[in-house]
Amino acid sequence: MAIPDKKGFFGEFGGKFAPETLRALLDDLDRNYAKAKKDPSFKREFDYYMKNYVGRPSPLYHAEKLSKRFGAKIYLKREDLNHTGAHKINNTIGQILLAKRMGKNRIIAETGAGQHGVATATVAALFDCECDVYMGEEDIKRQSLNVFRMELLGARVIPVSSGSKTLKDALNEATRDWLKNVDNTFYIIGTVSGFHPYPMMVRDFQSVIGKEARKQILQAEGRLPDYLVACVGGGSNAMGLFYPFIKDKNVKMIGVEAGGLGIKSGKHAASIVNNEIGFLHGAKTYVLQSDEGQITETHSVSAGLDYPGVGPELSYLSKIKRAKFDVITDKEALNGFKMMCHEEGIIPALESSHACAYLEKMKLKKKDIVIVNVSGRGDKDINTVYSLIKGGK
Ligand SMILES: *Cc1c(COP(=O)(O)O)cnc(C)c1O
Repeated sequence: MAIPDKKGFFGEFGGKFAPETLRALLDDLDRNYAKAKKDPSFKREFDYYMKNYVGRPSPLYHAEKLSKRFGAKIYLKREDLNHTGAHKINNTIGQILLAKRMGKNRIIAETGAGQHGVATATVAALFDCECDVYMGEEDIKRQSLNVFRMELLGARVIPVSSGSKTLKDALNEATRDWLKNVDNTFYIIGTVSGFHPYPMMVRDFQSVIGKEARKQILQAEGRLPDYLVACVGGGSNAMGLFYPFIKDKNVKMIGVEAGGLGIKSGKHAASIVNNEIGFLHGAKTYVLQSDEGQITETHSVSAGLDYPGVGPELSYLSKIKRAKFDVITDKEALNGFKMMCHEEGIIPALESSHACAYLEKMKLKKKDIVIVNVSGRGDKDINTVYSLIKGGK
C-alpha cells in the first residue's frame, strides 16, 4: 500500500502545495527521511530514546471499573505516563534525530497551546540545539505556564502578532523563518498535518503507539481489538494508534473531534465532521473555513484540539470509510474527565477526555474489546477544570 504516493497524496488529500523555494526544502527533507528510514541505526537510536528517555513501552492497562460500567473489555493505552506527559515527545524525538543526521543545530517549531513547544524545547535541550518556538500572542497570554516551561528548558518563545495571533499564524511565521535559515535550521511540526513529508513522517514516529498496543493486546487477549478510540486535533495520536491496524479490517477505528459548544453553534474544532475540504499549511484536507475560504477560528475546552484542520491521512481514512469520526462536546468531555478520575484514579488531559467520554456513546457488546488512547495527562488542565467546576461555567 503506497500511502502516501510519491507526491504525498493520500487519495485526493495531502500533497505539497508550496512555493518553489519551499518545495526544494521539502524535497530535501523527503530524501533525507527516506534514507534514514532505511537505515537500521536510525531505528536503533529512536528505539533507544523511546525506551530510556520517554519510558516506553507505555502500559496497555485493563480498566476493570470502566469495563464493568460499559459491559465490555476496556483497555487504556497510557501515553499519559510518557516523559513530559503526552504522546507528543514520540514525534519530537524522531524529528530531532533526523535533524542531527542532516547536520542542523537550530530547531524551530510552532505551538498553539504550548504542548508541542514544550516537547520540542525538551528534545532541543537534550540534544544541545538552539530552539525558537513561534507562538501567537493570544496563545502566549492564555498559556503562560507553558511559555515559562519552554523558557526553563532553554528555548526562546517568539510572539506572533499577525492575523488572529494564534496557531495558524505561528505556523506561517515558522515556515518563513525556515525559508530564511535553511542551512542550519530544522522545522519540527507537531502533528500529522502540513506539507508532505510531514504527515507521513509524524505518523511513522507516532506509530510506536499502535505497534506496542497491537503486541500488548495480542499478549493479553490473544486477539485484536474490536475498536480503537482516539481524540483528534491535528490527528497524530489517532494516526499513531490506528496506523498499525489499518490492514486489520475487523478493527473499527473511531476518531473523536472536539464538538465544543455543539456543531450547530459554529463554536467547535471538528474539521472532518463539519465536512468541508480546503487547504491548510500546504495540504488539501478537511478544514474549518468561512464561505470565502478563509480559515476560521475554532473553539474547544481543550487547547490541544483547537486546530482548524486535520491531517490528510485521517481525511482519507474518513473518505474511504476505514475510520469513523464523531464529536464530543466540551460538556461531555468534562464528564469524561470526571469519570476517569472517579473510576480509574487517572486524571486525563482534556483532549484525551474526549476519547474517554466517547465510551458513553458506543453500543458495546459483552465480548467487545476496546482500546482507548489516553494521549496525555491532565495536570496541565487543572486550572481550566477548576474554573469550569468551581466557577460554574
Ligand atoms: C496536542 C495533543 C492532542 C492533539 O493532537 P493530535 O495531533 O491530534 O494527537 C491530544 N492530546 C494531547 C494530550 C495533546 O497534548
